[in-house]
Amino acid sequence: MAKDFSDFAVRSLNKQRTVTNNYWASYWLSQKILELNLVNPQPTSPITPIIIREDTVNAFAIPGNIIGLHLGLWQFSSTESEFLSVLAHEMSHISLDHFSRLSSNQSQQGWVLASGILLSILLAQENPEAANAALFSALAVTSQNNLNFSQAMELEADQLAQKLLNSTGYNGDSGRAFFQKLEQTSFTTDAYEFLRSHPLGSTRASRLANRTLSESTPEAPSVSAFDVIRFNLLRDSDPSLIDPLAGWAKLPATITDPNLILAWYRSRAQQQPDDNRYLAQVSHLAGQYRGFLPAYFEQLKLMQRLGDSKLCHTFTPFAHAIDSRYATLDVLELLQRVSAQCQLASATEWQARWLWQSGKEPQALALLTNQLSDSSDANQIARLKNLLKDYSGRYDRFR
Ligand SMILES: [Zn+2]
Repeated sequence: MAKDFSDFAVRSLNKQRTVTNNYWASYWLSQKILELNLVNPQPTSPITPIIIREDTVNAFAIPGNIIGLHLGLWQFSSTESEFLSVLAHEMSHISLDHFSRLSSNQSQQGWVLASGILLSILLAQENPEAANAALFSALAVTSQNNLNFSQAMELEADQLAQKLLNSTGYNGDSGRAFFQKLEQTSFTTDAYEFLRSHPLGSTRASRLANRTLSESTPEAPSVSAFDVIRFNLLRDSDPSLIDPLAGWAKLPATITDPNLILAWYRSRAQQQPDDNRYLAQVSHLAGQYRGFLPAYFEQLKLMQRLGDSKLCHTFTPFAHAIDSRYATLDVLELLQRVSAQCQLASATEWQARWLWQSGKEPQALALLTNQLSDSSDANQIARLKNLLKDYSGRYDRFR
């Protein structure tokens, strides 16, 4: 049920165009979650991090192991530790199984709450009042006692988060202080941080972000993966952001983090565009760091755009690596396009998966049904039947 709900939540949020689909950032978040989980005495099952296209400084965890991180939080966090303290806090709610405690052992209530939370996220952009009404009616359905748990839960989540951060070498104390600062600025008093709205608007948040960036001295290359990924994520909406690598004359030999290397190549490609050089660089990076999928993605994207002859050859290892994992829509969109261009048997499945996750479920189901009646390949028929059965079942349970 959790997996189905998570799938439903992603589809719904994408349908409303509430998600910022940025594979690099999403991959980095997943890596950080894995890192924190390694030191977690109560490791969680897989978590899907989702970046919400909202300027408010906010984050939430909902049943189905989803963590939502608003763009405003990326803007407002000035260091990796600060940002990760919020991620670790949300992760702790999942890890400590606060949702089942919320529902007083009646899982039905937990799901009502989850649906109400999700609905209110969806409504928040269009109609904040309707969003609050949806949240409060969901809360009303769950037991009154649940509200009393929340302070204890928040403390518990803070403590676990601090432990996780300290065990992974981040500064748990500064992170916690940052998070408490956020909590204090919260003006909603229902103790859940779900949909907490902060008076720190987008303007102030971006001003703070900019100031932090311009104050850092270019000679000291103390740039983190978070800095470059945040820049990549926010630059579309805020062209005034300064590239954290702008002051670098060359890539220091001591840098081994593939995130920083990719950012450096991108930065150069922005300043002095040369597609062939950039493709050679990202191809080299993908070969050097085999597990670093953002480099593969960049490579495939470039090859597709440039009509490179190795496109179809490069597709397969990347598609295999993505296969059963959660991937953002930008990845699925490219995979469906390239698999069709290369006339691969998997093209229908990638297209169906892309449509499905975009929230175009009827189109995905129709595509699979049509392809099933056209296909004569027994293997393909078996795969398509499985996928259709899976999607139809989920669509009946959550639509
Ligand atoms: Zn919390």
